[in-house]
Amino acid sequence: LASRDFHPDDTVIEIKGVKIGGEHLAIMGGPCAVETPEQIDEIARLVKAAGGQILRGGAFKPRTGPYSFQGIGVEGLAMMAEAGRKHGLLTITEVMTPEYVDICCEYADILQVGTRNMQNFDLLRKLGTVKTPVLLKRGFSATYDEFLNAAEYILAGGNPNVMLCERGIRTFETYTRNTLDLSAIPVLQSLSHLPVISDPSHGTGRRELVEPMSKASVAAGANGLIIEMHTDPDNSMTGDGVQSLFPDQFANLLKELEQLGKLV
Ligand code: PEP
Ligand code: MN
Repeated sequence: LASRDFHPDDTVIEIKGVKIGGEHLAIMGGPCAVETPEQIDEIARLVKAAGGQILRGGAFKPRTGPYSFQGIGVEGLAMMAEAGRKHGLLTITEVMTPEYVDICCEYADILQVGTRNMQNFDLLRKLGTVKTPVLLKRGFSATYDEFLNAAEYILAGGNPNVMLCERGIRTFETYTRNTLDLSAIPVLQSLSHLPVISDPSHGTGRRELVEPMSKASVAAGANGLIIEMHTDPDNSMTGDGVQSLFPDQFANLLKELEQLGKLV
């Protein structure tokens, strides 16, 4: 079902008037984690003012260590939904377990499957039973075939609204957090009709690389970008402050993309 052979035309997912896929460029911006009502409200205002359409933020965080901040949970979902509603943005948030899918659907417009859960087959099967669009992140060691098979689980369950997200893979390089695999964008688009979103934040792990790799992703044909942005990155509650843009950098990037004629 994910294959281009089965579905020759690009899939365009429409959510409350926002189109993702085809010729459209979707911009998702926001913090790694939802922290407080004030934080997410202010960031939502800035995402909207810069021209973004979708607010990102994690309420459930998949952390490498068990003692790290794990997200504020359902309370965070409500804070983000309120900020999105107030500022006229769609929302995207990560869901980590099948049990939380229904509640995340109540609060968010798009559900994110994180890189560590790309092959959490019970989660994928559950996501196949809902209609809420899913942004599926590529496992950091997954081949294109494994990635597309993970998408297939969701599609096979009856949810056609899946987008693929390249977020960097693990290589021998340590200067960057991950290696953003730009080839994934045209390859996945040739193999599949699903929208392909690039995540230059997790794909590099370094703030100064987010702008060039965003532009490179768009040049390679990405259907959207998901970018971390924070009003106070140095004091953010996850380690991802180092890769988060400052609000003015986020706004400048969108302006430059617009000048390239890419922002729809
Ligand atoms: C995130 O988007 O904050 C995140 C945890 O992403 P990934 O699953 O790609 O590491
Ligand atoms: Mn993050």
